[in-house]
Amino acid sequence: MIDQYDEQEGYCRMLGHRLPFRYCRSANDELPCRKIADCWYDVFPVLEFLAANYSEEELKAAFGVQPRTRMATLIEIINRARGQQNG
Ligand code: SF4
Repeated sequence: MIDQYDEQEGYCRMLGHRLPFRYCRSANDELPCRKIADCWYDVFPVLEFLAANYSEEELKAAFGVQPRTRMATLIEIINRARGQQNG
C-alpha cells in the first residue's frame, strides 16, 4: 500500500523543516526524492517500501543511474529485497 507511511514525519535537511513522508515519496515528479533512503532508513523499512511500490524503471528515473554510483547500488539492494518478497 503506497500510502501506508504517508503520515510519518521527519526533518528535511534539504528544505529545513519537518514534512510528511507523503511529500518524500512524490517530490521528484511524483517519484521518490533521491534522498529518500538516507532520510527514512531508520524510521521504517524504506527499501522494502520502494521495492514494493515502484518498478525498476521508475527507480532508475527517480535516482538516476550512472555506473557503480551509490544509487545504482541502492537499486540493486532494492531489487534483492523485491526478490526476497517474491520468493
Ligand atoms: S527524502 Fe527528500 S524531501 Fe524527504 S526529507 Fe529527505 S531530502 Fe527532504
